[in-house]
This record gives sequence, structure tokens and C-alpha cells, in this order.
Amino acid sequence: MSDTKYIFVTGGVTSSLGKGIIAASLAKLLQARGYRTTIQKLDPYINVDPGTLNPYEHGECYVTDDGAETDLDLGHYERFLNVRTSQANNVTTGRIYQSVIEKERRGEFLGKTVQVVPHITNEIKERIQILGKSGDYDIVITEIGGTVGDIESLPYIESVRQLLWELGEHNGIVIHLTLVPFLSAAGELKTKPTQHSVKTLMESGIKADILVCRTEHQISEDIKEKLALFCNVRKEAVIQSIDASTIYDVPLLMQEEGLDTVTLEKLDLPNNTEPNLDQWKEFLQRHKNPKHKVTIGLIGKYVELPDSYKSIQEAFIHAGAANEVDVEVRSVHSEHLSAKNIDKKMMGLDGILVAPGFGERGIEGKVMAVRYARENNIPFLGICLGMQMAVIEFARTVLGLENANSTEMDSETPDPVISLMEEQKSITDMGGTMRLGSWDCHLKEGSLVEKVYGSSDIEERHRHRYEFNNKYKEQMEEAGLVASGFNPRTGLVEVVEIPSHPWFVGVQYHPEYKSTVASPHPLFVGFVKAVLTQKQKQNNASLA
Ligand code: GLN
Repeated sequence: MSDTKYIFVTGGVTSSLGKGIIAASLAKLLQARGYRTTIQKLDPYINVDPGTLNPYEHGECYVTDDGAETDLDLGHYERFLNVRTSQANNVTTGRIYQSVIEKERRGEFLGKTVQVVPHITNEIKERIQILGKSGDYDIVITEIGGTVGDIESLPYIESVRQLLWELGEHNGIVIHLTLVPFLSAAGELKTKPTQHSVKTLMESGIKADILVCRTEHQISEDIKEKLALFCNVRKEAVIQSIDASTIYDVPLLMQEEGLDTVTLEKLDLPNNTEPNLDQWKEFLQRHKNPKHKVTIGLIGKYVELPDSYKSIQEAFIHAGAANEVDVEVRSVHSEHLSAKNIDKKMMGLDGILVAPGFGERGIEGKVMAVRYARENNIPFLGICLGMQMAVIEFARTVLGLENANSTEMDSETPDPVISLMEEQKSITDMGGTMRLGSWDCHLKEGSLVEKVYGSSDIEERHRHRYEFNNKYKEQMEEAGLVASGFNPRTGLVEVVEIPSHPWFVGVQYHPEYKSTVASPHPLFVGFVKAVLTQKQKQNNASLA
């Protein structure tokens, strides 16, 4: 018998159905009923973590407080639940194998032949139960990445089958997310792909307890009955998940469909309270009824794929709602910026955010965007590489150090205003060797950021190798770019700002990872507020 209840979320028919959002929405509903709930994601790929993946592959790499580089779904979990995730919340096949192979090398298997079953499956089962056994949660939701039937997913599905058996009835259930496509030629919704995917799951010995059906059209009662009969679930366990205008509507839609009620019933948990979603609804109300509108340019090099900057996009939604402002985020490809077109490309932007990134591609465009914001008094926020570009731009234009650069882009630069920390110079491995996770930061008294945070000691998450070079600090400060946040232990510069500018802030860390619905990030809230104020000021000036 286990005290913790387990919910497994699998996906069928196709990828990209939004398992992460469904898992987060269900978790929200359970949390709102008072259940301590967390979510973890198991990814079937062989990378040890997504840290070495190009954002074009799986979107943004999300970073937790404990420095885990994880799947972007963990961002949704934190944004919905306002509960911190950790290394234990994201496991990949690479990590599972790494750990089993390390145990084998240490002789822990006592001469046995090491196999997928039981060694890999045991490792998976152990990882699934780490959070449950911590005693911190009543319910653990485990999302299995990929689609059932994939070769890579098989050990995970087998582990789930074994765990369900071991946990016993009512202690573990399976929610299967599928697609019910609409064939316009036939004018109808089709249930066959779902039937097949439920069958594939059954071949592995798993019976879905609940079906969540993604659809672009309302699923009729008849179709629900048909799905129930042929997929062997009760009709009330067939849940429609219709396309929503915002992901933040999904918890309420799932509540209407009774996903939380049927889940509690299957887990034999009391269902005598209504979820308290007052704060959530208030956020939605503000999000959907903005009083003002601003346009903010997101200058990056992965802009073709909106998921590359997922947390930034979501942080703007939270900060927009907090200010009752509709924030239109306009993506600008940094590689397409040139001295000739910069005025045109920046036209209509009320604020400018220069995004994080790695490598040389597109950086000159980022420097140009910083200069445009600085010289035209446009509120500016630079995040990580964006902050580094702000420092480089200032060094080049204001200090006259024409070839100033980061040693990441030019190892021979005469003015390495951004460079490696001494202890990092000998590192050759790419995975997991950056400054990662939560670090303390002290904010300078009287600075803009201190005002924005309403506090002088903060903690923020990092993911970078290069740092502000303190050799240039004095020179920069004399010329007007002030280091206003630094690590109290190492003295590394974490924040720069220009006090003579209406709102110009560069941060070496990633504030976007910590913004949630319940707790919008102060830096984004302050930025959006400044963008609106500056826009109104300019409008008034042009009217006068
Ligand atoms: N490439 C830069 C570094 O490694 C910035 C990284 C980032 O923007 N996350 O320092």
C-alpha cells in the first residue's frame, strides 16, 4: 500500500497534443482542492538532459532552482502550480542508462547480466517514486513523453504496467491523451485513431482509465458513447479537450468536463470540496480584459519557433495581466537586422527585449537593437546574452572600444568586456558545465532594480558560461552604465542598468523561469509598466 497516488499520462495518435498542459491543468484542479500535487516528465530520448539540444529540436531548455536543465513542460508545471520543480521532475532515457551503467561499473549488480527488464525498468520505477516517497505530495502525475507504440517508450510503458500492478487498485491510474480528428470531406469526427492507440496501449498490458480527447469540434454524446464502448472506459471518463484560446483556460475546461471528479473517483479519494480557483479566475479576467495595449519586440535568433522563448512569452502574459495590459510580443529575427533596416524593423515597438542565446549567429543584430533602445529612450530588458550584448554595445559606442566583444564570439578581442571565469577556462565538456540554477544576488541600494523587486536580496536562476568582466566596471560606471546587482560571494555582476535612461536593465540571469500565474515576475511587471508609461508619455507629448 502506498500513501501517494500516482497518475500516468500517456499520449497516442500523434505528438504535440499538449500532454504537459493537460497534466498541469489536472494538477491545478487537484491542488485547488487541497491535494499536494506535483508533476514529473519522463523523456524517451537519449540525451542526458535537454541542455545540449538546439531550441529548434524541443523548444526552450527550462532551468530549475537546483540547476537541472529540463524539458519546457516543467515550466508549465511551475507556472500553473506555483510549486518549484527539481532534477527529480525530469528524467530522460540517457540519464536512466547513465545511472544503470554507473551502477554496473561499481559492481552493484553482483555479476548479473544487466538488461532492460528488470534493470532499466527498475531504475525508471525508482525515479517515478522519488517524489512520492519524499512525503511532500499526495498525488504525483507522471507524464510519459512521446507516443505509445514508439520503440523508445516501451521500457517506460512496461515500468508503468509493473508499477500499477505493484501499487494496487485505486493507487495508480492511466490517463490517455489522444486526437479525435475532424475529416472535413466526410464532415465528421473520427474515433478510429483513438481506438487503435488504446489497443496499442493494451498490447503492453495497460488499460486506459480515462481518455482525454483533443478535438477542434465539439464531441457529441454519441461519439463519447462510441469511444467509451470501443475503448473500454466509462462514458464519464471520456473527456473532451477542445482547442482553447489560451492555455490558461484549460483547467476550467477540464473542470467543466469533470476530469478532476472522475480522477478522484478512480483514485478513491474524497471529492467533497469544490476546487478554489478564485485567484486563477481573477488572473484570467484581467488577462482577457486589458485596458491598454503595448507592443514589445523580442529580438532573438530562434524566433521561427515560438516555443524557443516559451517562458519569456508566458512571463509577458502574467505581467500583462498584472498591469491590465495586452502585451503583443513581436518577434524580430536578430540575423535580419542591419544598419539599413533597423529603423524600419524597430518601428512601432514600445519596448525592446533582447533574448538569451548562444554562439555568434545574429549577435550584431542584437547589438544594434540595444543601441536603438538606448539612444531612443525605449524601455529595454536584456536577458543573459541580451545583457551581455548591452554591455558590449555600451563599450563600443559610449566607451569607444570599437572591437569590444565577448570571448564567446571573438576569443582574440582586445576588449573582452564579457569573458570566461578563470575556473571555467579548462572545461571541454558541453553538458551541464555552465553556471546553472539559483544564485544569490544583492541589489544596490537606490537602484532601479531594487525598486522594481521591492527587496535588495534576491535569488535568480542562471544558465550561462560567460560573465561581465569586472576589469571594465569602473570605466563603465563612470560613463553611465551601472552594475546594480552582484553575487555577494563572488562579486560577479548580475545586473546592469543605465540610470539616465527611462528604463534600461540587463540581467545575467533568467527571470522568465520564475514567473507564474500566482506570482508574476517583478522584473517583467516593472518592464511592462515602464513600457506603458513611456508610451503614454510619448503619446501625450505628440498630442501637446
Ligand atoms: N552564451 C552566453 C553565455 O554562455 C549567454 C547564455 C544565455 O543567454 N543563456 O554566457
